[in-house]
Amino acid sequence: MIVRGGSVVTARGVMEADIAIAGDRITDVGQNLGGDGEEIDATGFHIFPGGIDSHVHFNEPGRTEWEDIAHGSAALAAGGYTTFIDMPLNSLPVTTTAEAFDLKVDAARRSSRVDFGFWGGVVPGNLDQLEGLVERGVMGFKAFMCPSGIDEFPACDERTLREAMKRIADLDSILLVHAEDSAMLMEPKGPTARDFLESRPWQAELSAVHDAIEWAQEARCRLHIVHVSTLASAAFIHAHRESGADVTGETCPHYLLYGADDLERLGGLGKCAPPFRDKAALLPTLYGGLQMVVSDHSPSTLDLKQGDDFRKIWGGISGCQSTRQLLLSDRRLELPLVAALTATNVAKRFGLERKGDIAPGFDADLWIVDLKPDGVVRREDLLYRNPFSVHEGQKIRGRTVKTLVRGREPGQGQFIRPEK
Ligand code: ZN
Repeated sequence: MIVRGGSVVTARGVMEADIAIAGDRITDVGQNLGGDGEEIDATGFHIFPGGIDSHVHFNEPGRTEWEDIAHGSAALAAGGYTTFIDMPLNSLPVTTTAEAFDLKVDAARRSSRVDFGFWGGVVPGNLDQLEGLVERGVMGFKAFMCPSGIDEFPACDERTLREAMKRIADLDSILLVHAEDSAMLMEPKGPTARDFLESRPWQAELSAVHDAIEWAQEARCRLHIVHVSTLASAAFIHAHRESGADVTGETCPHYLLYGADDLERLGGLGKCAPPFRDKAALLPTLYGGLQMVVSDHSPSTLDLKQGDDFRKIWGGISGCQSTRQLLLSDRRLELPLVAALTATNVAKRFGLERKGDIAPGFDADLWIVDLKPDGVVRREDLLYRNPFSVHEGQKIRGRTVKTLVRGREPGQGQFIRPEK
């Protein structure tokens, strides 16, 4: 098959080229490629490497009334994504044992429309499970440095976390942390959004990032900080990375689009942890400070996102369908940077050697998109199990023409595991 005449966007740049595909893989990228197979006319369109969302909560099995793999993966495909890596919570059971991991893989094999991998969980008491999870193909591990919001997935104390780092280093895997320092979080003083914001100061994130990097360096453990919300944390990660620490960080569209002052207006739909801070501060971090932008799609039913008491509202944002189109609507972000932040850098960091780029030998994961139309996120377009999002009304750019997963229409996703 040949995808002909489009503008191919990679982290290296944009070029007019045809893409030849045989089976699952890209075999050639160049001008005027020959061949007599099926052709897709991409004239006037752009072609990105299929997106990789390494931070979603699809909640299957166990909490599928919040989100399931069929709906979540269809939403991703609609937004230009061909791979997801699912978090070890908020499914039931949580992915802290090899048996729970098998349940996830089985569920995704049945219903994922795109390729899929899984993070395992580190919680007090499960360190003897880490090796078995690595053998099964876990992408790495996630731990919380503060309460996660659900009882089945408790936070790691310092001792557990440091011991886990040693074991994960020995297993040549990677640790992801939710970095907020429990000791610096407070009970909200009252029911308002402002009370919630004040209960989670930015210093709590910086303090936890500091500890996590120090401990990981001592254990020689690869470290990734999820959903960074402040410039201070991003700068701290960057400085340590520059001086040789094996640490990366991600942020999410909601930290780029909204600040603390927006939360009252947005209400419960905008509740997440860490909370929105200073939207203006984070854009520069995408030019090297942080390596990826992911959705942290963490949905629930609508009733859990509403109510007068902010303390009782579920903390999580629904957004995985819109990540790329939201980024593209910010004309300051050049196309190759968007490809890097949403695919190439993710694949490189997490050891997906055949994904994240458009070049011979890579999986034919492609997003063919018409970048001319501008629009907004509309509820009726969302494919989530619970179709609502804090992003409704936000500007997006582009219309998905076609998403190809290993050369085919989204349909039967495959299990992926780190290759190095
Ligand atoms: Zn999350």
